[in-house]
Amino acid sequence: MATFRGVPAPITTAAVVAVVVVLAVVVSAVVRIYGSLLAGTEAQAAYVSPFPAHPVVRDVDPHLPDDANQYEAPPPRGQVPATPGQTVVSLTFDDGNASDSLAARMLADRGLVGTFFISSGSIGKPGFLSYDSLRGVAALGHEIGGHTVNHLDLTGMPVQEAQQEICLDRATLTRWGFNVRNFAYPFAEGSAEVRQAAMACGYNSARGLGEVRTRFGCEECDPAAALPPVHLEETAAPAPVTVEWTVEDLKESVRAAQPTGGWVQLTFHSICTVNCDYFGVTEPVLSEFLTWLQAETRTGSTVVRPVEEVIGGPVQPLVDAPAPAATPPAGANAVLNPALDVTGSVPTELPPNAKATGPLPECWQVEAYGNHQAEFGAFPLANTGDAAMSLKVQGHMDGEAKLMPAMDLGRCAPPVSAGRQYTLEASYMSTARPQFAVYYRVERGVWVYWTSSGFFPPSDSFAKAQWVTPPVPPGATAISFGLGLAENGELVTDDYALMETPGIHTG
Ligand SMILES: [Zn+2]
Repeated sequence: MATFRGVPAPITTAAVVAVVVVLAVVVSAVVRIYGSLLAGTEAQAAYVSPFPAHPVVRDVDPHLPDDANQYEAPPPRGQVPATPGQTVVSLTFDDGNASDSLAARMLADRGLVGTFFISSGSIGKPGFLSYDSLRGVAALGHEIGGHTVNHLDLTGMPVQEAQQEICLDRATLTRWGFNVRNFAYPFAEGSAEVRQAAMACGYNSARGLGEVRTRFGCEECDPAAALPPVHLEETAAPAPVTVEWTVEDLKESVRAAQPTGGWVQLTFHSICTVNCDYFGVTEPVLSEFLTWLQAETRTGSTVVRPVEEVIGGPVQPLVDAPAPAATPPAGANAVLNPALDVTGSVPTELPPNAKATGPLPECWQVEAYGNHQAEFGAFPLANTGDAAMSLKVQGHMDGEAKLMPAMDLGRCAPPVSAGRQYTLEASYMSTARPQFAVYYRVERGVWVYWTSSGFFPPSDSFAKAQWVTPPVPPGATAISFGLGLAENGELVTDDYALMETPGIHTG
């Protein structure tokens, strides 16, 4: 690897210790997801989030289908109060996995109605429902609930960004024609602020997890939640169903509630056949349980109801989340923390081929896809200020890696106006040929790859890369960009800028 001018050898004992500490923080952050629900189980470390580290769509149309507004859900169901001692089971399926279509049919075949909590940003992505199949789930009579745009831990971001995630998801699902009244927190993670944000988006209830007793958690809890529910902003439910649950465990979650009655909200994720992830349930297990449950409902002392029939209430008007950042005036730099000098947090999720040797700058994320290893870290020599970031790409066969302004819903991503052109800049040193890659966000909060610049020459001292984008496509509300490598080498970057190009307006 070539070295850059004026750079001291950076490896010290302190640096090695720092890296070890950082790795420990990363591991604990991953385990924290669902950790409180699964404390004491071996399998929690086996959970690999099915969600990408960032919400970029490739080769998928991010726009609404043309007929999206023509779907009209049947009138919302009213509340059905439980009779004293009755056991009410709700069957909920989280995330919008492709297998929801199968789940929806399995329930409908037995006359059961479920609730599907959907992350709208995942619709149309590989492994998830398409828009048409989501509509198919609703057409079988099931309830569609909200689960945020991008399925991120809402407690790990400022509350305004969390509210964007919740409100924009509800707005998209509503535009698609569904009556969206109930919500579930991604990873069951909520704080007082986040719970307030969820209810402020017009939800009638929001589901937590783990506050009902099963052999998988909450030994001191009751075997069913009270009816009517006490805390609508965080309704109580057993720990989520995982591959460890047997048919007997599922039956027992209902049987345990029957002596007293109450609400048992069961949470499923995907239905799997061979390669089950930890939060999967196999089709034979689900099938046997549903058949048993259907039989249990014959006497009327046990019933199956969607969440909307338990909670009731009107379909509340849509609420606009707090507006994202205003578009900066022409000539102003729209990139936040452009010199990378404000240190952010250690990333808890990275693309599988990427690693970070420390925290990333505040409001920045890494992006890496394809066959290569990408390593991001602080670089000891900055162009201006105190910080610069390095990227090493090794073993390159295909794909690209780069540092980018966080592709979020408004806090960090630079807002833009359709039809305008923008000048992108970064200072860089590189042993290889870097290139700008540009992404844009559409109204429903999904990010898509847009375009790339040509290559800039290698440079062993800081040089400036500058490029003017084509006019921003219709429907784009923000753009993000990175100066990256699509070949082996080391790249150091600093001092990014994104400015509206004065005088170039095409509409
Ligand atoms: Zn989820």
